Amino acid sequence: MDDSQSHGHIVMLPFMAHGHLIPFLALARRIRRLTPFAVTLATTRLNLRYLRSTMSQSDADADSGIRLYELPFCSSDHGLPPDTENTENLLPHQIPLLCHSSVSLAAPVECLISNITTEEDRPPLCVITEVSFGWSVDVARRLGTKSITFTTCGAYGTLAYISLWLHLPHRSTDAEEFSVPGFPERCRFQRSQLHRFIREAEPTDEWSKFFQVQLKLSLASDGWLCNSVEEIEPLGFDLLRKYLRLPVWAIGPPVPPHMLQKSSPISPKSKFESLQKHAAKALGVSLEKCQDFLNSHGPNSVLYISFGSQNTISPSQMMQLALGLESSGKPFIWVIRPPLGFDIKGEFRPEWLPPGLEERVTGSKQGLLVQNWAPQLDILAHDSTGAFLSHCGWNSIMESLSQGVPIVGWPMAAEQVYNAKMMVDEMGVCVELTCGVESRIEAEEVKRVIEMVMEEEGKGGEMKKRVNAVMGHMREAMKEGSDNEKGSSVKAMDDFANGPSLSI
Ligand code: UDP
Repeated sequence: MDDSQSHGHIVMLPFMAHGHLIPFLALARRIRRLTPFAVTLATTRLNLRYLRSTMSQSDADADSGIRLYELPFCSSDHGLPPDTENTENLLPHQIPLLCHSSVSLAAPVECLISNITTEEDRPPLCVITEVSFGWSVDVARRLGTKSITFTTCGAYGTLAYISLWLHLPHRSTDAEEFSVPGFPERCRFQRSQLHRFIREAEPTDEWSKFFQVQLKLSLASDGWLCNSVEEIEPLGFDLLRKYLRLPVWAIGPPVPPHMLQKSSPISPKSKFESLQKHAAKALGVSLEKCQDFLNSHGPNSVLYISFGSQNTISPSQMMQLALGLESSGKPFIWVIRPPLGFDIKGEFRPEWLPPGLEERVTGSKQGLLVQNWAPQLDILAHDSTGAFLSHCGWNSIMESLSQGVPIVGWPMAAEQVYNAKMMVDEMGVCVELTCGVESRIEAEEVKRVIEMVMEEEGKGGEMKKRVNAVMGHMREAMKEGSDNEKGSSVKAMDDFANGPSLSI
């Protein structure tokens, strides 16, 4: 037994999707840095391979004491294509199959917990998992350990997601606007804003069946860790705690600590250079191109556009977005991918953009089109970046707000719609341009919204002030040091580690 194991052991079970493995790895690293506990991250073979390759690209010290454990899984036993262990490359109708198949991991997880218990003469302190693995709450309890649910989203979005799936409140009314259990009357939700999986869900479909069962089970866990910051979502945390009636620790944001430091102003160029070596390996795009482009424009003048790691927009939306961007005259960096209906990882064809647009915007230095993947956090950290047109994935939001960049929202799936709603209604740092891949947008509307958000006065100026305040809270929250100096997220991690939830 190594020294950390003698202090106690935490088992972590991420859902099988790359977007979930990364926040779990980040949490494992924080637990190792801030607590004396050993950590075992358990997942299936191909997901472990992905984790190993991610870990090999970073500082080995950060990962000392994190043990990886393989959970056996055979995708074809569950009607999935061979070697399919995460949501990558799955068609939408196959994802519920992957979700249901995760229940088969219960037996190997039991085995892991029992082995740790025998080896260390006591059960692990807890199993940290997420809402889609609600089945593990019962496994943990039976084996004498605690179960903690980790939500990789914000408090408001998490509550909206849970409550909408559990209660399906839009079904009891024909009205466009309706209230949602757990939210005050003033926070009404709109049918048209709901993700189509919820909007169209029947109680018998595979999505509802899976989520309703797993969410209910998760509500019986011993506490929740939330990847957000107490001060930026006071309403969300208040509502989530009242709804769950469990301890909720705000331990975010999910942004690398060096990007949250209050440093004396450094030139945009040197900021980029400090990250370049590390990032260049992982990114297939020219960082220098983004750097040169941003350096050639003034402070807060460039719009950055990206729809996360898995989304794209429809062909007609792509045309209108391109026309709107060009006519706004604002400089932009756009992460382009083939539109809906085409292989998202395939080559980008010029015919998907208005004729001659790429040459015009590149020639005039108005725009930089980056294929598939860009160094997002570096772009957001650059002083020239003035706004972010985003699908409102939680990581993108946290990265943007932590760098003081207001958001133009275009939510697509999962809890993104509720993230956008919270940022518009509660934080005042976002304007929603449109929602989903079926919506009709016009170039004039794109132009109008971009101009409004990027103006120094009026609405744009107001958003900038608010986002700077949010940025300040996020940076404060992660401050380490003596007890008086610690920020709220660091204190919350202490409370989690030292509190009654982890005493067996
Ligand atoms: N990302 C990036 N470059 C891109 C697109 C995405 O670095 O071109 C990163 C982004 O910084 C974020 C993550 O991918 O950390 C996307 O996570 P998010 O929760 O926003 O959305 P998801 O991809 O899960 O829908």
